[in-house]
Amino acid sequence: MEASKRLLATANRILAQEGVLDAFGHASLRDPADASRFILSRSLAPELVTQEDILAFDLMSQPIGPTDTPLYSERVIHGAIYRARPDVMAICHHHAPPLLPFCLADLKLRVVTQLGATIGKQVPVWDQRDEFGATNHLVVREDEAVSLARCLGPHSIVLMKRHGATVVGSTIEQLTFRSIYSCRDAELQLRALTYGAVDSFSDAEIDAASRYSQATLSRAWEYWNSRLAATPSH
Ligand code: MN
Repeated sequence: MEASKRLLATANRILAQEGVLDAFGHASLRDPADASRFILSRSLAPELVTQEDILAFDLMSQPIGPTDTPLYSERVIHGAIYRARPDVMAICHHHAPPLLPFCLADLKLRVVTQLGATIGKQVPVWDQRDEFGATNHLVVREDEAVSLARCLGPHSIVLMKRHGATVVGSTIEQLTFRSIYSCRDAELQLRALTYGAVDSFSDAEIDAASRYSQATLSRAWEYWNSRLAATPSH
């Protein structure tokens, strides 16, 4: 558990440093030793998370054991997706600026680069308004989180209208890679759109491009770690 907490704390700081998370958003990891639990920080800006801040939760997103520390209000997103997707081992919910235009405008997130293929062939878009009417656009209720997980289905990313995105992965390294490169791909797509129509990958090309080797994921993870190590600690 301590090694998992350390890994998740590192991922939190990488995702913050690389611009996916800011004061808000959160990343979790399913307990590799007990699939009915996941770990997540107490309510804290991800850049500040250390392994001491990380707590264990059951799949109803309730903390294991009593705690009086404030928790993320949107932690229900994590439990609902872990229940619905046994293959998912790590989740990141964020509001990264490069993805927000795709949650606000009538603009489809497409794969435009080889690394962007991690997005996958389909990106479902969830609108909290459809089922829940006027809300504050936070996912804080179980039924809201279940609805979001249903919309995600078997895919890797779900965009949330007027809100942000939730990304899943089968490892923390894959989740980090996918969270960062989906934002990079979105940024490039937006920038290219100012010059006219944008070409994108076909489904067959996405299939071919998205089979990243462990060496690719490890190389990226090592790079992000070295950038983190070069940053003065808090
Ligand atoms: Mn949110």
